[in-house]
Amino acid sequence: MLKKLYYCKLSAHSKLEERLTALSRLLPVLNFKSRIKQNYKVGIKTHFGDENNDTHIAPELIKVVVNHIKNLHALPFITETSTLYSGSLQNAIQHLILAHKHGFSYGSLGAPIIMADGLMGNTEIKVEIPGIKYKSVNIARDAVLADALVIISHPTGHILTGLGAALKNLGMGLSSRKGKMKQHSSIKPYINSTKCVNCQVCMKWCPVDAIVEKENVAYIIEEKCVGCGECISLCKYDAVRFNWGVQSEDIQKRIAEYALGAVQNKKDKCFYINVMTDMTRECDCMNIKQKPMIDDLGILGGFDPVAIDQATLDLTRKYNKTDLGRLSEPKLDPTVQLDHAEKIGLGSRSYELIEI
Ligand code: SF4
Ligand code: SF4
Repeated sequence: MLKKLYYCKLSAHSKLEERLTALSRLLPVLNFKSRIKQNYKVGIKTHFGDENNDTHIAPELIKVVVNHIKNLHALPFITETSTLYSGSLQNAIQHLILAHKHGFSYGSLGAPIIMADGLMGNTEIKVEIPGIKYKSVNIARDAVLADALVIISHPTGHILTGLGAALKNLGMGLSSRKGKMKQHSSIKPYINSTKCVNCQVCMKWCPVDAIVEKENVAYIIEEKCVGCGECISLCKYDAVRFNWGVQSEDIQKRIAEYALGAVQNKKDKCFYINVMTDMTRECDCMNIKQKPMIDDLGILGGFDPVAIDQATLDLTRKYNKTDLGRLSEPKLDPTVQLDHAEKIGLGSRSYELIEI
């Protein structure tokens, strides 16, 4: 059966007002009432953007969703998890301070922010899944305890997966630190010493100090590396290598299985919204300012994370020569995550797009 997706178009360089209007038109169509009952604790999962990122979803849009849920007499909260690597998002305290700086707070949103994985990112519940790679996954506890979830994702390119959208927001974004480690464990970058000019940028940037100088070139200490992939996109000399095809496919499949775990107890109580604006080459976890790669397209909403990411790729392909994933990382196939997610029963790549 085709999964219904609702699409509200935006102009190429849309402003906040236009986005707010589009979202306000989309939400009633999604009929939250059919899946959210009175007093349900509803987690709204989004991303606040790293320190220098300014293309993340605006807090004003999140507030519209908060108000919509409050009108149903349910209890919305904004939720996130800490990152695997050190930096401004590495624990609940720093993460919440940064969220506040980016305009996300109880004062601005009208709902509390609850870090689903606790103070240090290790508060989790082991969830059993019918996966191919995993039979159980480590999910941030309060995401599991929530009665319903609204996953609001900002599609971008991604250095390891090609596309970062709803599946990544769910799988990586709602796993505990241990879960993130397990997903990243297949990424093993190494230095091509003939290309390295020892500029040391990667050494200063690596969030876990896993890169050192050895015999006048960079060297990655494998035991310390958490596989975040940031050095790969950072090196201007193409000296940081990883096995693109094999390792990307592996992490995409792991993310899809974690995404299944994140919604396993409430697949019929989840909503997905992809805000296709300011789509950049790298994801919002990169601590840099970025320019959008392509024009804004609109806001998509639906009940299936696989269908919504498939439609995101298709729409970006329709208006550009190729899709967002391949524009960002031409060597990667971003559909691996979709294909695997479909295989394990998370959703369907077939959809019907209804323009509103
Ligand atoms: S950023 Fe690239 S060139 Fe510079 S030290 Fe690291 S690997 Fe070498
Ligand atoms: S992938 Fe690169 S930047 Fe990330 S932890 Fe490993 S060595 Fe450091």
